[in-house]
Amino acid sequence: MFIDSHCHLDRIDLSPYENNFEAMLQSAKDRDIDKMLCVSISMEQFEPMYELIKPHSSIFASVGVHPLSADKEQVAVEQLIESAGKKRIVAIGETGLDYYYQQDTVELQKQSFRNHLVAASQLEMPVIVHTRAAREDTLAMIKEYGDLDSAGVLHCFTEDWGMAKSALDLNYYISFSGITTFRNAEELREVVKKVPLERILIETDAPYLAPVPHRGKKNEPKYVVEVAQCIADLKGVSLSEIAAVTTDNFYRLFSKADV
Ligand SMILES: [Zn+2]
Ligand SMILES: [Zn+2]
Repeated sequence: MFIDSHCHLDRIDLSPYENNFEAMLQSAKDRDIDKMLCVSISMEQFEPMYELIKPHSSIFASVGVHPLSADKEQVAVEQLIESAGKKRIVAIGETGLDYYYQQDTVELQKQSFRNHLVAASQLEMPVIVHTRAAREDTLAMIKEYGDLDSAGVLHCFTEDWGMAKSALDLNYYISFSGITTFRNAEELREVVKKVPLERILIETDAPYLAPVPHRGKKNEPKYVVEVAQCIADLKGVSLSEIAAVTTDNFYRLFSKADV
């Protein structure tokens, strides 16, 4: 079985399923995707997102505000802690730093990231970190405010091996998305080869970033198999081994997720 460790299920295009959320979940189940982690990007949208996933025991969730929304929304440590008490919330995020898309909100992004790291430390929960073009600040903040036992994951990883190595040294996991399958992602595929299998997670980040051969279409959790196949090819192991190892990794990192 596969786990999609990062998707935004409240944003999936359900038109191929006649707007039936369960039908979309079933199409993922038909490809052996048994569990998913639905990731929060804003407190405003957290409640409706949580209501959507609540009836489904196959879906875990996180709570947090995306770094590119830090200028619109600042979430307090206490608010994160309170929301994280809900059933099947297993992580804090996604949070982090994105200097690629926004340079003028750096201070607000840092403030938000700090609150998430502090809340996660207090909760002993892992953090889902989004990082782009902000290598040094991301690592420095994890070191300063993070709890290295509960750790976290650098999701949708697109940085270089140096960044991956530093994160691994901080007890973090590395999650790869459909970007790994893109034709021009040769450098990233070299990083995949170097990251130990025991520290890899797989994700779709759906509805964004559909893997080859679905690139350009709307992404869905069912396409996490293409990501897994790409990793299997790069590591020279079977698809079922990738399924088994990444599932074990998921439960080790997200220890509040019940099997
Ligand atoms: Zn992200
Ligand atoms: Zn995301």
